[in-house]
Amino acid sequence: MMNKLLALLFLMAAFTASAADIDGRWSGKLNNNMDIYLELKADGKKFSGVVTTPYNDKLFTDGKISGSTFTFSVNNDGKVTSYKGTLNGDNMTLSLTNEGKEYSGTLKRLKGSEPSPFASRMKPQMTEYWEPVPKKVEPGPYVMVPPPSDAIVLFDGKDLSKWKSRDGSEAKWKVEDGLFTVVKGTGDITTRQKFGDYQLHIEWRIPEDIQGQSQGRGNSGLFLQDLSDDLKIPDYWYEVQILDNYNNPTYVNGQAGSIYKQNPPLVNAMRKPGEWNVYDITYTAPRFNENGTLHSPARVTVFHNGILVQNNYEIRGHTAYIGMPAYKAPHGKAPISLQDHGDPSKAISFRNIWLREL
Ligand code: MG
Repeated sequence: MMNKLLALLFLMAAFTASAADIDGRWSGKLNNNMDIYLELKADGKKFSGVVTTPYNDKLFTDGKISGSTFTFSVNNDGKVTSYKGTLNGDNMTLSLTNEGKEYSGTLKRLKGSEPSPFASRMKPQMTEYWEPVPKKVEPGPYVMVPPPSDAIVLFDGKDLSKWKSRDGSEAKWKVEDGLFTVVKGTGDITTRQKFGDYQLHIEWRIPEDIQGQSQGRGNSGLFLQDLSDDLKIPDYWYEVQILDNYNNPTYVNGQAGSIYKQNPPLVNAMRKPGEWNVYDITYTAPRFNENGTLHSPARVTVFHNGILVQNNYEIRGHTAYIGMPAYKAPHGKAPISLQDHGDPSKAISFRNIWLREL
């Protein structure tokens, strides 16, 4: 009898939660181990707030609460993430759907001046800078450069047999008319063979009718050595950015021809959407001492459409979206990868990829 009464009281309490009860700061982890922090402000039956993840802070204003359940949504550069949850005193359960995947977690109300999990953490914006803007240089006309006799041809226009998905299965990007196009959502592709020092030629094309802005416009990436699978360190690679920067400002150390989040290109050598862009790259892999410490950093020279954009640049470490680059672990040869970036713009294409080992 007593138990039933308690249960009833509990249910009543649970179903009579109002927007005022959601007011406050909430902190927890999602089941992918990602920290999440909410600052919520009630207004009648509605609420607004800020969602903070390691990636960004996003405002929303469409929060609704009904009984003990609530919903809100966040617009991430055109992609909407829907959140729903249940409130129970100083605890909430939260679930969200992002790019077709569902995540969930539990959050606790933070008391008084308890700090958020992000209080002392770096944000992506801290390693992005916008000036000075590299000068625009118009490249000469495109000329196809076929592979020389000693090249390893990584794509000859016919198939992706030299590439695989990260899980080891066949590469799922679409081969057609002598080129291949990213199939968004199928994941990065990575070479079956591993490489150390090399000269690489690769051509990439932004679709003529590309939409979007900043990093949300034809984003991909060339990972010069990709250690994430071999060393089991997530997102661990050295990246030359691929992006449409023909007429699209972004942070300059994230534009086409940059060493992503490290060094902007010397100039902007982009051809316009619909035309082929070419990277000719020489890469020197990092060297490590026997005790695992760094002996010499990786170095890279990049020509974009025949124009020098990276001049023997010393790579400072892995490509860190958040925080600082570092050489986290010694390694030898590694695959080259191409990025399936989550940006919502139309997929880009590649062709004529060949490499000479040095
Ligand atoms: Mg990229």
